[in-house]
Amino acid sequence: MKIKKDAETKLLMEMYERDNYMCQYCGKYVVGKQPQRAHVLSQGKYSRRMFGDAVIDSIHNWKTACSLECNNKLALNHATRPVEAQDFADKVRRLNERG
Ligand SMILES: [Zn+2]
Repeated sequence: MKIKKDAETKLLMEMYERDNYMCQYCGKYVVGKQPQRAHVLSQGKYSRRMFGDAVIDSIHNWKTACSLECNNKLALNHATRPVEAQDFADKVRRLNERG
């Protein structure tokens, strides 16, 4: 369990660095705050079935958010924006392959 958590923390740090510690919705700095990890494609069962765990759990599917509000705004709902969601999933898959 601890190893899994450490790996997760490492990935979160990687995400914050990639996003320059800025909320990817409003641009606010999250340094010294309690930043959130927004999932662009949701972690819901339906979403997982549609796009697969490799996409949903990828760092490329995560964005830094400063608040729950921004977290929600970063989400891409495949029910209302199916084309964009599919495009985004393809992009994540390509980035995953690159490693
Ligand atoms: Zn924000």
